[in-house]
Parts: sequence; C-alpha cells; structure tokens
Amino acid sequence: MSARDLVESSYSDPQQRARFLAAASPHSGDWLLALPITACGIRLSDEAVRVAVALRLGCSVCVPHSCRCGSLVDSQGLHGLVCKQAPSRIIKHHALNDVVARAIQSAGTLVTKEPVGLTRLDGKRPDGLTLIPWQGGKSFTWDVTVVSTLAASYVSSSARSAGAAADLAASRKEAKYTSLTNSYIFQPIAVESHGAFSASSLSFLTTLGERLTGTSGDLREMSYLFQRLGHCTAFQFGFDTRELCFRALHRLKDIFTFCNFNDMLAMLSRGQ
Ligand SMILES: [Zn+2]
Repeated sequence: MSARDLVESSYSDPQQRARFLAAASPHSGDWLLALPITACGIRLSDEAVRVAVALRLGCSVCVPHSCRCGSLVDSQGLHGLVCKQAPSRIIKHHALNDVVARAIQSAGTLVTKEPVGLTRLDGKRPDGLTLIPWQGGKSFTWDVTVVSTLAASYVSSSARSAGAAADLAASRKEAKYTSLTNSYIFQPIAVESHGAFSASSLSFLTTLGERLTGTSGDLREMSYLFQRLGHCTAFQFGFDTRELCFRALHRLKDIFTFCNFNDMLAMLSRGQ
C-alpha cells in the first residue's frame, strides 16, 4: 500500500477525507509554488496564507462567532465559503474569470467578457466568448463557477473522489447553456473552494496552457496559469474580513466596470 493510500484509508470522517482528496488533486496546491511577487499580483499577505493553509489542512481559522447572516461560524470558518452574503464569492468569481480571459487572450485569441446576444432563457449569459474561432470553426464561450468542497450538499461526493463537487457544478452549467452548443463550444470552468477542478476544466486549462507555451515558447506557462488560478482561490480565503468586505461590496459594481482585478486589490489596500 502506498503512503497516499495509507493516509487516505485512515480518514473515516467524510469532511477529512474530502479535504485530503482535494488537497491531493492535480494543481490544487500549485499556488503554494508561486513566487510572492507583488507587481504580478500573486503575493499573498501573511494572514491570507495563514487562513488558506489552515483551510487546506483542516486547522482552526477563527474563534466561533455569528455571521452577519445569522448563521454560526465554527472554528474552521467553513461557513464563509457558502454564505450567501459573503461578497468574497463575487470577488473570487471575477478574479478567476479575469485570469481565464487574460490567458486566452495571451494565447492569441481575442475575447470579450459577458458577451451580449448569448443570453439564456432566464436572461443570464456566460462569462466570456472568443471573438474568433477557437476550434473547428466555432467560437469558445465559458462560464466560471466556484463551489465549496465541504458544503453539506457536496461533502459526501467530495469524499468519494476529488473534484466531484466541481464535476456536479460543471454538469449543471452545461445543462443551463445547452442551447448555445449548436453554434459555440461551451466550457464550464468549475473549481472548488479547496482547489480541485472538474475533469473537463482540467482538460481545457491544460490545452490552454499548451497554447500559451506555443505562443510564448515558455514551457512553464501551464504552471503559471494554475498558480494564478489557485492564487485567486487561496487569496479569497484570507480576504473575508468584515470591514474590507463591506467596502468591497459597496464599490464592486464601479470597480468591475472600470478596473481589472489587480487594480481593484490595489484600491482596496489603499483604503479607497
Ligand atoms: Zn453567513
């Protein structure tokens, strides 16, 4: 029996097992390898690293307290990953979408975010669209979704296989955007709070990394891409201090209209 199998078999609690599988899944820990370069927007504060690592390992994050929504936040802080009132959910979504859009563009394909004219029956639209064909003469459109690995509705699936929660979320997205697939290639970008990707997202991001390498000639492009994506997830964990989040919520609409994610972080860090 391998060391990994030995550790995996020692977990009987679904939450512990799900956390271990997510931490061991492909690229979920790549952000730990990123160089902390402020100018590149990939430097995490000490507090962000503390919270991200604690969540990854299942250690205590905070003193139990009441969330503004009225729910109890236990010492592991998992409620913050599912709270409907946590503005950090929106920030994470936009940050991930920004990384995906920039990567596709860097690979030589023009993109637009939140494309008009691709709305579903309920009025919602995907997060991005390539303005030129991506494959087989079809443009590529994507939608980012983030789900909590350890949410009550997912933890039993997450404890069976890594990325199961992301796979379920990806399937839901595919069903919602099925009307687009005649004319476009639709790809959900589904990632879990604890870093695991859906199988189809991993496949697409791997292809994207290879295209980036084809454009720049740098064999480390794929690694950089997953580091940036993981950074968005990890940073999110350390971002949810209440005062900062209220300011972020207040300014989100304007900020996302005019600025990219790194500009937004710079504004918030200056206290604007
Ligand atoms: Zn809450």
